[in-house]
Amino acid sequence: MSVPSRAPGPGSGRPAGRAPAAGPDDPEELDDRDGRLRRFATIWSRAVFPVTATSMTRPEVERHLLPLARRLSDALHRRPFDTAPAYEVGAALVAAHCTDPDALVRTLGVVDSYLVLYCAGENDSPARTEEHRARCARLQHALSAGFAQALRERTLAEQEALARSSLLASTEAQRALHTTETRLRAVFEGAAIGIGIADLDGNILEVNEALMRMFGGLDQYMRGRKVSEWVHPEDTPHVWKLYGELVRGERESYRVEKPYYRTDGTVLWTNLTVSLLRDADGRPQYQLALMEDTTERRLLNLRLRYEATHDALTGLPNRTLFFERLEKTLAAGDGMRFGLCYLDLDGFKAVNDSLGHSAGDRLLVEVADRLQSCATAPGEMVARLGGDEFVALTTGPDTRREVDELAGRILNALASPIRIEGRDLTVRGSIGIVEGPAGERGPAEVLRSADITMYRAKSAGGNRFETADAEADARAITRHGLTNALPAALERGEFFIEYQPLVHLGDGSVHGAEALVRWCHPQHGVLGPDRFIPLAEHTGLIVPLGRWVLEESVRQARFWQKRHTDGGPLRINVNLSPMQLHHPGLVSDTVDVLERAGLEPGALCLEVTESALIGADDDLLKPLRQLAEMGVDIALDDFGTGYSNLANLRRLPVSVLKLDRSFTQSMQQHPADTVDVKIVEGIVSLAHSLNLAVTVEGVETGAQAAQLRELGCDTAQGWYYARPGAPDRIHTLLLADAV
Ligand code: C2E
Ligand code: MG
Ligand code: MG
Repeated sequence: MSVPSRAPGPGSGRPAGRAPAAGPDDPEELDDRDGRLRRFATIWSRAVFPVTATSMTRPEVERHLLPLARRLSDALHRRPFDTAPAYEVGAALVAAHCTDPDALVRTLGVVDSYLVLYCAGENDSPARTEEHRARCARLQHALSAGFAQALRERTLAEQEALARSSLLASTEAQRALHTTETRLRAVFEGAAIGIGIADLDGNILEVNEALMRMFGGLDQYMRGRKVSEWVHPEDTPHVWKLYGELVRGERESYRVEKPYYRTDGTVLWTNLTVSLLRDADGRPQYQLALMEDTTERRLLNLRLRYEATHDALTGLPNRTLFFERLEKTLAAGDGMRFGLCYLDLDGFKAVNDSLGHSAGDRLLVEVADRLQSCATAPGEMVARLGGDEFVALTTGPDTRREVDELAGRILNALASPIRIEGRDLTVRGSIGIVEGPAGERGPAEVLRSADITMYRAKSAGGNRFETADAEADARAITRHGLTNALPAALERGEFFIEYQPLVHLGDGSVHGAEALVRWCHPQHGVLGPDRFIPLAEHTGLIVPLGRWVLEESVRQARFWQKRHTDGGPLRINVNLSPMQLHHPGLVSDTVDVLERAGLEPGALCLEVTESALIGADDDLLKPLRQLAEMGVDIALDDFGTGYSNLANLRRLPVSVLKLDRSFTQSMQQHPADTVDVKIVEGIVSLAHSLNLAVTVEGVETGAQAAQLRELGCDTAQGWYYARPGAPDRIHTLLLADAV
């Protein structure tokens, strides 16, 4: 990969110039600007002159380039920004016979290094300079595109001319053969393209000057030889089939692209047109070959293709080329397998941020080199997808073992520190591996799976590889999809609340209900909170969602109260997520909701999971304490799962302990084991001594209910009484109670 070299110029730094004059129309400044533009054109002409195929002198080239330089300079400043002038400059280069690939490379080098330097304002702000740099990059792209397009058009035009002259030559040659030897000579020698005549056995009879020059200029190398001697290993298979058909008189002509060896052993690429010449009676007699030398054009095409498919920084194949390779691999037939390692460097951003981009670039180059040395076997390839993401691919029948080894080699190659700017940087990476048979999945799917798996490796701590498995992929994809769908779901009203009664263990009366949120997902159906609450926590959506749940259930509780005036105070329990605890609007929102619904604070109980309060400091407890002081009950949910310090309970503003379901369950599973019973007994008596009520969760049988009542628990919740359900079910239960 060649990086455009800096053209000869006046060293680094801003060109010497006077201090800026008053205004943009100031004649002195205009003069100065013109001078700088000329300087730019000089540098440009020096860079491209050696590679132009023109009869102009260097100063003439410079004069020719000056208006083009002006167009680039104008485009750099123009508002709105437009890249079309640069595109036209690319085309103008081709028109001026600057068709050598190097002319483009050198032009880009000059534009990159000097356009902004010479053509931007002298005292531009850094932001302005940044904008100029960005524009300059886009102008270079447009210039390359204009160059490539013009070259293509020129090639097409040449081909057309060739076809015309071929036709001409062919009729001329036929007439000449039929008439006079002199006429044939004239066509032969005058033609700009190579012409040769052979008999039907392939013996070469005549070749013209142009053809001889193309092959390296040795007459004896051509004449008296046979056409069939010019086999080249890169011949397409059908070339010689077409040849056979022609000499047997089965076809009149054919046209192919064909390589030859020149006399010096180098390769000549041609557009070859062969026509059958018949005698006056129509019998096949000779074959006439017309050849156009396409070697240069081919090289340019190869070069442009190389640049389009390789990463400019590291020289590795880029995403485009990798995709092509992967696609081909995945389309391969039976028995072929592939293994892909998707590597992302751990903490690369920190290197970039702390040491700067050029250090980051050098690090990437070193990493690329190391990676390349890991994948040298046939069927292996390494590519850079962008940023700090690389891939390594291995193909063959036994990639299952190979891909693990490859990933191991990669981590190993990264293990030794990389020295940059006198520091040893430790580079680590996370690798997602996908391995499997060809013919089942497309490249996009494989890459996505590898990407997901790489993230799994990263979240497991990095510096490791993980292997994709369909289930983990599906989970990640659903998780991803659900996370994205959450905000719209809240707007569309896809959430709803079920209520589960809280029952007095003493008399079995319904004492309140816990609000439990559900998501009625358009594709996945009803989802429980475990599927989406953690996602909502993660994205922050839990705050508006939690507020909605609070509002909705408080309103519901008020509604029950109005309908059911003769019972005791009915309570509503609402779960609070840890993130809601940290939200500054918690107290004011809650007060607001209660006031608007007209529900007294004493009817609300907020459930906070035990783990969220372990180690909570006073700042975190303050809003809860404020709410408790207003009369809102705070319950410690899932108690017993978080190993909180029992002595700590006194510090917390809670009035209810909700014993986790696991206690109820283990008492059920080991009824004879008195340890569980003793623990519950202990907790209950401790809670009571601290003035806390005890609610038990997950009561599923009458026996459990009886035992827990015995142990002194106050309230219970569970399927034994009712599963979570629609709000009117609670109403029915309340009525039943009243009866
Ligand atoms: P939680 O607050 O501990 O809620 C009790 C869970 O136990 C509920 O699960 C309930 O359906 C289930 N359950 C009740 N009785 C029984 C029983 O007898 N046997 C069994 N096996 N399970 C029973 P659910 O509805 O899946 O809720 C799970 C968790 O999601 C809740 O645990 C709570 O932490 C959270 N959650 C629910 N709604 C909300 C909400 O609006 N906001 C927040 N932040 N979290 C919520
Ligand atoms: Mg709860
Ligand atoms: Mg609970």
